[in-house]
Amino acid sequence: MAFTSAPLMMRIMASSISSARRAGVIIRDIMKTGELGIVDKGKDDPQTEADRTAQQCIVASLTKLFPSVKIIGEEGACELNVAKELIVTELDTEFLKNKCPDEWSNVPAEDLVIWVDPLDGTSEYTQGFVDHVTVLIGIAVKNAAVGGVIHQPYYKNSSTGELGRTIWGLRGLGIGGFTPKDAPSDKFIVTTTRSHSNATVQCALDAMQPTEVLRVGGAGYKVLQLLEGKAHAYVFASAGCKKWDTCAPEAVLEAAGGTLTDMLGQHYVYHKDVEFPNRLGVLATSRTESHTKLVERIPHNVREAMQSK
Ligand code: AMP
Ligand code: MG
Ligand code: MG
Repeated sequence: MAFTSAPLMMRIMASSISSARRAGVIIRDIMKTGELGIVDKGKDDPQTEADRTAQQCIVASLTKLFPSVKIIGEEGACELNVAKELIVTELDTEFLKNKCPDEWSNVPAEDLVIWVDPLDGTSEYTQGFVDHVTVLIGIAVKNAAVGGVIHQPYYKNSSTGELGRTIWGLRGLGIGGFTPKDAPSDKFIVTTTRSHSNATVQCALDAMQPTEVLRVGGAGYKVLQLLEGKAHAYVFASAGCKKWDTCAPEAVLEAAGGTLTDMLGQHYVYHKDVEFPNRLGVLATSRTESHTKLVERIPHNVREAMQSK
């Protein structure tokens, strides 16, 4: 059901939910074939057939429904003339039952950018840590990350055994697909990279004085740790993340009362001409933490190292 009178923002969210879910099926199917087709895009930056096909599915589907909205995907310009079975035209009907917040009811197509990470946590996917994999679709209005979808293809529903869950967030509406939990107040658990660490990353981590460190893959999965109450903060003092890694996680986390910024406490901007790298790293906190307090803990040498990049 592609036709609906819902505002553009709501239709894009509903279509992102459906296409992220389909991308999750593609990711599982390609893993089952055992032929991952790995190529190196750069140092510590692998790409697989699943990244490529999931991106085709998402970008071709969103382009078909929203031809005048700018879409930027991690895997670059993609063939839009893709196999019919990769095109998802249905919108998530459950999501469309929500009322559009007034502030998004008249957003024009030219103010929107959709940031797509078709498979976040590729290193982990190739190494068999499939729980860490997510599909990320973020929606920016002008500069701000406003809406997001995080799909987790290998999450297993403990009562039905069904694979895959989809969590969405929209500023002004809240989050869906999941009920957030708070992390234990007698601990301070920090989540960070498991495959892209370096001396500056470690220095910033130590400065946080965590009681535990949770090293997991992917920006999406780390933000899920915050939402699930498994960690209090996500700290990554490196320029390695890109806008498609943080747009959806930032929107979902902030819709749930948390905060995601660079290491200096400033929000990234997500307009269509912005550079891709998040040069000042990532600092995210759950709704129970003081973000400002953690920004103040970042040592001077880490700030300098990041600003010189
Ligand atoms: P991580 O926390 O290391 O799993 O990284 C989160 C996201 O940022 C993933 O999409 C990574 O591919 C990307 N990323 C982080 N650091 C780097 C890096 N040094 N080189 C390439 N990609 C990176
Ligand atoms: Mg990524
Ligand atoms: Mg990716």
